[in-house]
Amino acid sequence: MSLNEYVRKRSFGSTPEPEPAGPRASTGGNSFCVQRHDATRLHYDFRLEVDGTLKSWAIPKGPTLDPTPKRLAAMVEDHPLEYGNFEGNIPKGNYGAGSVMLWDRGTYETLGDKSPEEQLARGDFKFKLHGEKLNGEFAIVQMKGRVKGNEWLLLKKKDAEARPGWDVEQYAYSVSTGRTQEEIARDLPARDSASAMGKKKLRATR
Ligand code: MN
Repeated sequence: MSLNEYVRKRSFGSTPEPEPAGPRASTGGNSFCVQRHDATRLHYDFRLEVDGTLKSWAIPKGPTLDPTPKRLAAMVEDHPLEYGNFEGNIPKGNYGAGSVMLWDRGTYETLGDKSPEEQLARGDFKFKLHGEKLNGEFAIVQMKGRVKGNEWLLLKKKDAEARPGWDVEQYAYSVSTGRTQEEIARDLPARDSASAMGKKKLRATR
């Protein structure tokens, strides 16, 4: 997995985004994260750790626990593992300029017999998320026969974690700092009881 494209698109002197430490061996890790990114257009960046990097997709409407909609997910360049902790502002003039919220984080389990690498190569990757907001079984499936080839669909499976009618915008706060997108954009400090607030909100909407 190469981070060349990630590096080529960025100037690390002018963006706070992490610079890859260098070539790294696979750690065998299974983290995931989602960032809410208020760039030219608001979108969510969904990232799964595979073989030492974060495989990444931009999802215009965001992920959902509702098992009915299929969410378009455009595969983008691999990101370094360090990106999984990133929250902040990418200054104007840089690639992806705008505020970045760490919207969810956790780990995933691969479902089925095939490795994540094999499942990605066949364009049908099934996994179970253990996040602070997203949980349960999902699949991300490549749309075959498309010209660009980077178009995938993120699907929530029907399971105990499925929530029909679930609205991603009801959860628009950081799992890291409790901040809203506007508070991040204004560089306001972290809220004190970020995680407590998050749990209360989750309970209230169930
Ligand atoms: Mn993005």
